[in-house]
Amino acid sequence: MTQATQSLFADHAFLPEGWRRNVLLQWNAHGALLSVTPDAQASAGVARASGPVLPGMPNLHSHAFQRAMAGLTEYRAASGTGATDNFWSWRDLMYRFAARITPEGLASIAQWLYIEMLKAGYTSVCEFHYVHHMQDGSRYANAAELAQRVVDAAGASGIGITMLPVLYQYAGFGAQPPRDDQRRFINTPESLLTLLDTLRSARPEHGALRYGVAPHSLRAVSNDTLRALLDGLDAMSPGAPVHIHIAEQTAEVDACIETEGARPVQWLLDRFDVDARWCLVHATHIDADETTALAKSGAVAGLCLTTEANLGDGIFPTHDYLEQRGRIGVGSDSHIGVDWRAELRLLEYGQRLSRRQRNVLASADMPRVADRLFAASLEGGALATGRAVGALRTGARADFIVLDANHASIAEHGSDAWLSGVVFCEHGETPIRDVYAGGLKVVDGRKHRDEERAYAQYRAALAELLK
Ligand SMILES: [Zn+2]
Repeated sequence: MTQATQSLFADHAFLPEGWRRNVLLQWNAHGALLSVTPDAQASAGVARASGPVLPGMPNLHSHAFQRAMAGLTEYRAASGTGATDNFWSWRDLMYRFAARITPEGLASIAQWLYIEMLKAGYTSVCEFHYVHHMQDGSRYANAAELAQRVVDAAGASGIGITMLPVLYQYAGFGAQPPRDDQRRFINTPESLLTLLDTLRSARPEHGALRYGVAPHSLRAVSNDTLRALLDGLDAMSPGAPVHIHIAEQTAEVDACIETEGARPVQWLLDRFDVDARWCLVHATHIDADETTALAKSGAVAGLCLTTEANLGDGIFPTHDYLEQRGRIGVGSDSHIGVDWRAELRLLEYGQRLSRRQRNVLASADMPRVADRLFAASLEGGALATGRAVGALRTGARADFIVLDANHASIAEHGSDAWLSGVVFCEHGETPIRDVYAGGLKVVDGRKHRDEERAYAQYRAALAELLK
């Protein structure tokens, strides 16, 4: 195995304890870090990183097919007076897109998206995958056809993936029957678990692939079917990740109170053993008691700032939640943007704009906002993946980003200001120069090894969808 060990020497690298100098990174043929040694000696045979090294960022929430509609819904529908565009009108447009997607088209869109993610320094993705069936709602011969296409697209791009097949059963609280335009999404716990089992056999887990499940939202499942899903998952893969959309819209909070007698986060925490295996995506509308309870649960709050801003969702109480040691991670969700730097920037800016203060999300022990949010998102994002990622430490995946030290956003700055420049400055091209995933250099000089071919296929798929 010795000859299969690979190494990189970094003059500066961001380790769990902060920036360290002269760091030697070594990893094995499977892409796992064997050692991370600060204050090491550079030696002749070891490649040298061209700039400061950061861990790759996990992207904890993605609906791959939605990448194809980014930028196509930014207009107000021409209709009579008083028309209001909101999440629900956007969802109608999104459903029309979902109705047309083909297996080949999805594969091309997902592969291009994952290349964009890698170029942005996302080295893992959690795919909240809910388009399962054929256009008329009947099953594919392989029930896991579409999920498998997405898993394969991730593998081809080099990004690590946590595939979360979605249980979507009802159209709304009180077990409302699904709408016709939801026919490609619908499963029972049993059919969803069968789909997952089929997928796990066809594409077994490895260092860059993990499975979990995603009950779509409380409005799309019931108490009993959620329990059946979790029991089935635990029989298959104890402790596997569970993600759910929880409180993105005030309308769903109101409907939950009306039919279930509690707000969504409170309802879930009261009835289920919610802990660090859970990721609650868009816990946007939570009250003070839910904020405390969610922080205490150890679950990860999945924040998708660019999408939440784009859809007009609302603002998560990040300051109060972080003060109570709540866990967070970020995701690009609808992919209106694919850039963790923008997610972290907007996370802070939402707080600044609403509180009319600066550096709101800094803390006494981490006075630099970018450093605190970066470290928190690495840790929470890694938990959400259920994979050993998110830190430069022995045993973790060799996922890292090499910054361009000559970039105008960080040049001449001391290392303590690098993350501030990376997150808050927006000056021209990205400061992310090279990206390694599982020890492979998949982005070199801001170019992915496969981007021309993947982009041509993406454009063809998009042209077909927009015909
Ligand atoms: Zn989502």
